[in-house]
Amino acid sequence: MAFELPPLPYDYAALESTIDAATMKLHHDMHHAAYVKNLNAALEKYPNLQSKSAEDLIRDLNGLPEDIRGAVRNNGGGHVNHSMFWKIMKPKGGGDPSGPVAEAIQKAFGSFKDFQTKFNDAGVKQFGSGWVWLAGKRGGDVQILSTPNQDNPISQGLFPIFGNDVWEHAYYLKYNNRRPEYLAAWWNVVNWDEINKRFESLKTGQLEPALAR
Ligand code: MN
Repeated sequence: MAFELPPLPYDYAALESTIDAATMKLHHDMHHAAYVKNLNAALEKYPNLQSKSAEDLIRDLNGLPEDIRGAVRNNGGGHVNHSMFWKIMKPKGGGDPSGPVAEAIQKAFGSFKDFQTKFNDAGVKQFGSGWVWLAGKRGGDVQILSTPNQDNPISQGLFPIFGNDVWEHAYYLKYNNRRPEYLAAWWNVVNWDEINKRFESLKTGQLEPALAR
């Protein structure tokens, strides 16, 4: 079974005015679709790998055949990252976090404001394309990290609780070169309910099954 592009869980314009409809359409229909297409192409020669989840494929990159390692790292990562990204945003999102993830943020960073400042700063400082994450170890504390390209914390043994896409394709049409402005505005569309669901998965170390294909 081939990997498939998941539908956006809302309209292209649903995240206006934080993220414009044209960016959402290009980002989902072109960029994410290309990662899925290229991942499937990379796995064509390896039927035994086709039944694995995308998360499992990028969990142990060194375990992959060398000739497809780079393609799976980039496109499997792209598929995992974007499948998460659409779901951790929603119209009329934002506000202060609640529930277990709010407690973990408080414990690790002192306050939500201090956490946001550090997260945004890590996103600004990620040179070139990449992601900024809140990630954690199973049963452990949470941490902020950034990764280049489509690398995911899974490949470092960390669980990705949520991340923001700082590739220019995520913000350039509306924010041009003003990445800090995009990072600051993005909190208005964050879906804390979905992030709390993912945070619960930290305890088991398993991503939800819905992300597997
Ligand atoms: Mn992207």
